[in-house]
Parts: sequence; C-alpha cells; structure tokens
Amino acid sequence: MKYKQVDAEILGRIREIVPDAKRVLTERTDLASYSFDASFGTHFPELVVQPKTTAEVAAIVKLAYEETIPIYPRGRSTSLSGGPLPVEGGIALDMSHMNQRLEIIPDDLIAIVSPGVLTANIHQAAEQVGLMYPPDPSSSAVATIGGNLAENAGGPRGLKYGVTKDYVLGLEVVTPQGEVIRTGGRTVKNVTGYDLTKLIVGSEGTLGIITEAILQLIPKPPATATLMAIFDDIVTSGEAISRVLTSGILPAKMEIMDQACIKAVEAYQPCGLPVEAEAIILIEVDGHPRAVEEEIKEAARICESIGASRVEIANTEAEREALWKARKMVSPAIVRMKPTKISEDATVPRSKIPEMFARLKQIRDKYQVNLVVFGHAGDGNLHPNIIADKRDQEEMKRVEKAVAEIFEAAIALGGTLSGEHGIGNMKAPFMEMELGAAGLDVMKRIKESLDPKNIMNPGKIFPKPGQRLVLTEG
Ligand SMILES: Cc1cc2nc3c(=O)[nH]c(=O)nc-3n(C[C@H](O)[C@H](O)[C@H](O)COP(=O)(O)OP(=O)(O)OC[C@H]3O[C@@H](n4cnc5c(N)ncnc54)[C@H](O)[C@@H]3O)c2cc1C
Repeated sequence: MKYKQVDAEILGRIREIVPDAKRVLTERTDLASYSFDASFGTHFPELVVQPKTTAEVAAIVKLAYEETIPIYPRGRSTSLSGGPLPVEGGIALDMSHMNQRLEIIPDDLIAIVSPGVLTANIHQAAEQVGLMYPPDPSSSAVATIGGNLAENAGGPRGLKYGVTKDYVLGLEVVTPQGEVIRTGGRTVKNVTGYDLTKLIVGSEGTLGIITEAILQLIPKPPATATLMAIFDDIVTSGEAISRVLTSGILPAKMEIMDQACIKAVEAYQPCGLPVEAEAIILIEVDGHPRAVEEEIKEAARICESIGASRVEIANTEAEREALWKARKMVSPAIVRMKPTKISEDATVPRSKIPEMFARLKQIRDKYQVNLVVFGHAGDGNLHPNIIADKRDQEEMKRVEKAVAEIFEAAIALGGTLSGEHGIGNMKAPFMEMELGAAGLDVMKRIKESLDPKNIMNPGKIFPKPGQRLVLTEG
C-alpha cells in the first residue's frame, strides 16, 4: 500500500479538528517520545495527535482514510511486542489523554471507562465499593485500559479469573472509515448478531479505535492467603505447579521466578529470597476465609510432597505484600544485568510446563544467552526473558535464534506464540507457524474487509513477504 505523507494541507485540516495546538505535535523532539515502546526498535511518526473526544477521533480517522495515511493508536506505550510503533510513519494517535470517564455502577456490576484511564485506577475505584475488576497486568499502574483491551492483556489473576476479554461487555469503536459503532452493551448476556466486542478485543488496534468500554465487575473476595515454595530444581517446580492445579484447588495466582531472577532481585533490592534455590513459586488463594485457610495448607503440603525444600506461608499482610513486591521487582532487577531485554510470553498447556522449562534450559545452553524465566506459571504463560546488549551484534544474532527456538518449542508442545503481550511487529514473522497459511489468510480477509486501505496500525500481526525477526541494528 502506498501511503500519503502528512503535508501542510493535511496538517491544517487536522488543526481544524483539534484546534488546541498543544495536542498536535510535529517537533522532532516530541515525535522522538512516540518512536518507541517497551519492546525493540525505533520508528518515528510524522505527527502526533492527542484526541480527547470520540468526535475528534472519528474526524481524524475519516481524514486519514480519505487520504490513505496510517494511524497508530497508542496508550502508554508499555507494549512488549511493538504494538503502537509507527512502523510506516503517519499519525500516532495518543489515546492516553482521553481519560475523562471512570464510572462504577454497583447495581449493574459494571464500570464505564474512557480508553486512556489507567487500569490501576479502575481496580481502586471498584474496590472502594467492594467490587473487583479482575484483569491485573503487572503494568496496571502505567498502562491504559485501551491498551489492555487492544492487547487482551492478562495478569497473575488470569489463572482463576481469566483475562481482559472475559470482562468486556461492550465497546464504542471508531472504525477504519471513521464511523462510530457500539458493540455489545451493559448486560452479561447478549447474543445479538456477531460478537464484534470479542473481535475488537485483542485486535491490537488493527481493526478500529476503542473510545469507550463497558467492563464487568465481580464481588471482591473477602480473604486471601499466599505462600512461597522453594525448589532446588526448576523442573520439579513445574511438576508441583501441575500437581496443585489438578488437586481441586484453583489458586488466584501462581507465579514462578527462576534462580537468575531471584539473584537479580536480591542484588537490586534485597527481599530475603533464597539465592541458592533454582526456582520459587508464589501461590495465592482467595475466597471465603475458611476455604482459604484450608486451601493454602493443602497447596503447601502438595509442594512439600513433590520436593520443595521449604514452604513459607505469609502470616501477615506485610509478609504477603513483601512476597509480591519481590515478584514485581523482577523486571526492573533483570535489566540491570544488561541494557536490552527481549521479553517473550510463549505459553504452553499446563501439563507441558515441566517440559517447557527443560527446553528453555537447553536453548540457554545452546545459544549461550542470558535467558531468565518468570511469569504466570499456573496458566502456562511463562515469560522467558533474554537479557542482552543490542550494541553487541554477535550476541544479538544468537538472541534472534534463541527467540525463534522458544517459539518453536512452545508451538511444538501445543502452545502459542503469545499468551498476553500480543503479536505486534515482533512476532508477525512466526504467525504462519502457529496458524497455518489458511488460518492466517482468514484473519487477513477479516482485516481487509474492515480496513480495505490498511491504514489502521499497518505492519502489525501480518508478516510482510519474507519478513523475519531482526534484532540487530544497521
Ligand atoms: C514492566 C511491564 C510489565 C507488563 N506486564 C504485563 C502483564 O502482566 N500482562 C500483560 O498482558 N501485559 C503486560 N505488559 C505489556 C503491556 O503493559 C500491555 O500490553 C498493555 O496492555 C499495554 O497498554 P498501553 O496503554 O501501554 O498500550 P500501548 O503499548 O500504547 O499499545 C498497545 C496496543 O494497543 C493499541 N491501542 C492502544 N490504545 C488503543 C485504543 N484506544 N484503541 C485501539 N487500540 C489501542 C496500540 O495500537 C497497540 O497495538 C507489561 C509491560 C511492561 C513494560
């Protein structure tokens, strides 16, 4: 597709739609702030627009459609897959300023939110009235609900409660032609026509721009309990995960950290984690207080029987928070090893978790890369992270091969390229490996019918002919 550049005439029309000069950015220094996300690579937009209303979004998209200019919706750019990167230039549409509405309606157990609202603010508002919005990506404090919806974000609580798509009842969406549509509604049950809500959620900003969402809330569980199980062998920890999950207990969270993560956290901000352990698992159960008390003891007993060297149950809220703080510290801690973090989220069926750990060990040894593993072990959504230095071209070549092999291993074990971070441009080259040519083609035909000029986040999800993963520069 041949795209038109943003010229003075088009800029003038955009300034008419958004007359506030501070919300239309063209300076190179401003564009630089929109040239990256939390993944890899730098791509400058030609222009940034910060809309505040649905009418502004619709008018800009209509103009972009008429003129064939790429549009890149963006939340807070915490994407780990290149989701908001303006790989074809065009307009970066910064949706983070559209954050006016955060309304909790307790009688209907719903929240109505603007796309730029931070997810943590939804958690807080719901909890104030005894309700819970379950999806809890670790980036909640800095990521927008619009970004979560577009990526179908998950989090530790996904194990018991599911992911973003499971809590979306309805959306307001600006289509690639600039029409405003509403999908779904306020009711839990709704089977009127095709489920466009589910189609838009997880479409990574390639099918339209979300301008409002109706989210489902649930009652907040009255009690929680957390334990840490320590293992001398990571594969055994994988067996413990499988055993707990088949024991009749459904933990709210079940997270793993391998030795490299444990050591990195202790070197960064000592939390008293056992640096000699090869892995630790954190398990949290929630629900009725009596059930919680029984279940946490049973989970501890199972971990011990499988071979945990030690199990500690948090006795106080402070101890519980300290355990989760250690887990949250992993991302900032590991980037202190080396500056470049390639964060993957290949996911496998739960029974294959021990085998995936074994494969990851082999890949680390084969390519001699700093491969650390943490993540949402309970749902098979591991986060193998490779810590490297992008200035070292030889190392990055090995990283490219290791990443490709991680994807191959996940798919060979019946898993998927991405459990929650999305495809973006980073994983596009591997799509056919998972979906097959026909499967990918069906997705492409949906995209083409809704966005015939391919203006909405082009360069994402669908690989260009011959596209491959490139992590070297120059
Ligand atoms: C430290 C860290 C921890 C993380 N932990 C998790 C985790 O636990 N679980 C998880 O799932 N992810 C996690 N992520 C990834 C990231 O935070 C999520 O993908 C998040 O949903 C992105 O939100 P954002 O507001 O930053 O969106 P962006 O990164 O700006 O955009 C993400 C995608 O959404 C599209 N988009 C944004 N807004 C809209 C809109 N209004 N309409 C249509 N499309 C839109 C963009 O085009 C892009 O494709 C983590 C990232 C970091 C850096």
